[in-house]
Amino acid sequence: MQPQEILKRYFGYDSFRHRQREAVDNILSGRDVLCIMPTGAGKSLCYQVPAMAMDGVSIVISPLISLMKDQVMSLNKSGIPAAYLNSSLTVNQYLKALDYMKQCRYKIVYVAPERLLTQSFLSACREINISLVAVDEAHCVSRWGQDFRPGYLKIPQFISLLKTRPVLAAFTATATGRVKEDICRLLEMKNPYCVTTGFDRPNLSFSTVRPKDRYRALLNIIKNHREDSGIVYCSTRKRVDTLYDNLSAAGYSCGKYHAGLGADERKSFQDRFIFDEDKIMIATNAFGMGIDKSNVGYVVHYNMPKNIESYYQEAGRAGRDGQKAECVLLYAPKDVITNKFLIENSQPNEELTIRQRRQVRERELEKLKYMTFYCTTDRCLRQFILEYFGQKSDEYCGNCSNCLAEFEQEDITGHARKAIMCILQLPVSFGLSVVADVLKGNESEMVGKWRLHQNDYFGSMAGLSLTKIKDILKYLIIRGYIDQTADRYPVINVTARGERLMSEGTKVMMRVKKSEKTAPPAPAPMPEADRGLLAKLKALRLDIAKKERVPAYVIFTDATLNEMSARKPKTLQELSRIKGVGSRKLSAYGEKFLRLINEKTDSV
Ligand code: ADP
Ligand code: MG
Repeated sequence: MQPQEILKRYFGYDSFRHRQREAVDNILSGRDVLCIMPTGAGKSLCYQVPAMAMDGVSIVISPLISLMKDQVMSLNKSGIPAAYLNSSLTVNQYLKALDYMKQCRYKIVYVAPERLLTQSFLSACREINISLVAVDEAHCVSRWGQDFRPGYLKIPQFISLLKTRPVLAAFTATATGRVKEDICRLLEMKNPYCVTTGFDRPNLSFSTVRPKDRYRALLNIIKNHREDSGIVYCSTRKRVDTLYDNLSAAGYSCGKYHAGLGADERKSFQDRFIFDEDKIMIATNAFGMGIDKSNVGYVVHYNMPKNIESYYQEAGRAGRDGQKAECVLLYAPKDVITNKFLIENSQPNEELTIRQRRQVRERELEKLKYMTFYCTTDRCLRQFILEYFGQKSDEYCGNCSNCLAEFEQEDITGHARKAIMCILQLPVSFGLSVVADVLKGNESEMVGKWRLHQNDYFGSMAGLSLTKIKDILKYLIIRGYIDQTADRYPVINVTARGERLMSEGTKVMMRVKKSEKTAPPAPAPMPEADRGLLAKLKALRLDIAKKERVPAYVIFTDATLNEMSARKPKTLQELSRIKGVGSRKLSAYGEKFLRLINEKTDSV
């Protein structure tokens, strides 16, 4: 079968997305492929479609049990024979699945890396024709990433033990040069064809907010998304627990997830969220890898995450189905301190030498600096993120809180000069808060200890709030007039550019917001009739999902139901034109949905 036909028949899609086709074609031509695409771009199809087009069985190596289960469930619903082999199976289930694999009754088999070299699995693989090995979340092979999995290092040995060398394809959303290099080298890829797409997720809106009252800010976001599923990320378990208690007490259906909960409890909360029984998931960063829930309408970070990579990955769990979704970061200056603490006290990776660990820590602190800048920048947030990943983009996206906020220019040249003179006069380098105290004229402990009230600029900005003074200092850091060290206790120094400011007549303009930032406007409301129909379609879907014991989006995604409610197909053929309705799903559920749609249309 041709890829196009497979795409339509099994997945219900008319066309490949940007660059998916390239990955598919190269795999089918027998070439190794490295595919780097952001979360939600559709990497799975890049190996699932070739797997269906090739002879024999395809092996998919995947780090997480939850991820495998989800994918296999979806594939089976689409009519693709697939299975997973991992520790969640009983011995009997495992042996049966292995037996089926040997009979080539599956086209796709998901497996955890640790299983590759086990006797039973390996000998089964050596008996059959394996045409493709797809490595999902391939960055797990690299020690440079946060998700290093030693089991991934066994992949080349596994491949070398097979009868013939299959095509090797690797997939990841992590794009840094180092990780990419590691993937090619450590997986022993042969002259791989690289497919890299841009990292932009245009359907996501981004905002940063520094609220006076975080909890209230969160409630507002949740209220704006009554119908949606959402994830709230917190930096500590304790915070997760309190938020969970508070929101539950306030009557919201929510679940929680962190490493301090028992495995069963975690799983039950996760399932409730995936099955749409709880709308809100409150979690630490332990939650999410491999969660393919496509209908997450918003992701709130209740605290500043430790770096842009984590942030973009976590925020990226919103809107996988391509629907508009919102990513909001709530932050307070003290988040920086919490994060530093977490970095300093994180569990060291046992696989690294002491020197490597120190390097990792320094890099983490450097990354935290950029995260802080993200929270305080007045530039387009999307551009900031994309640039961080090395991608050029426009200065204005029109879909982030900075592009949408109204700014006015404030001339801060006078303040800037005072700040710079003040720093130059200090006996040694100090941190930002101490300098702010001096400018404000606060008699703090450090000020007393170092007799900083003798500085000529002590109290020279007494008329401004301490927050404003700190904002100005941070702005001067971003603009390169002042430099902040990346040490454990960062101190600030005047740069050459800062010194030049004193002699040159340059003006320093700071963009300040006219009004408090507001979240980007919600998407235009649907017409009443469609909304009513959509609710009915969702109810039907939930009904079917419950009977078949799968998450609702495995039956149809929200995007598919939205399109149904808008287009109101009258015949099976019309229904089959809707994205996400493949032939298997059409015959399994088509009639039921058609009946519901037309019932509604008739009565209007
Ligand atoms: P990734 O692994 O890259 O994060 P997934 O493979 O989980 O992304 O795909 C994300 C979503 O995009 C899924 O809901 C999938 O069905 C959808 N999708 C993938 N390819 C297409 C396509 N060509 N047309 C429409 N939707 C697609
Ligand atoms: Mg994926």
